[in-house]
Amino acid sequence: MTDPLEHATGLVKQELLSKVAGNEQNPFDMRVYKCVSGDSSNQTMVPSFYASRLVGCICEEDATCVNRMWLHTGEAKRCECGYWFKFDDAKPMV
Ligand SMILES: [Zn+2]
Repeated sequence: MTDPLEHATGLVKQELLSKVAGNEQNPFDMRVYKCVSGDSSNQTMVPSFYASRLVGCICEEDATCVNRMWLHTGEAKRCECGYWFKFDDAKPMV
C-alpha cells in the first residue's frame, strides 16, 4: 500500500500533516469546549480561522439538541441560556 499522505491534497493533506505533527485529536480545532462561567465578563473564547464561525451551545448538560448561532469577527454573543461566547482569531495551521 502506498502512503495516503503522498496522494492527499488540500484540507485532507493539512489534516494528515497535522496528525503527523502530533495533533491527533484536534487538527481543525473542533473540540468541545467546557464553558467557563459564561457571564459577560468571563466569556467562552471561540477560535476561528475565518471571519465567522458557527457555534453550538449545549445549554443544559442533558440537552438533546444543540443551540447554534453564528459568531463574526470581533463579536460577542449571548446564547438564549445566558452563556456568552466571544470570537477569537485563531493562528493559522502550521
Ligand atoms: Zn446555550
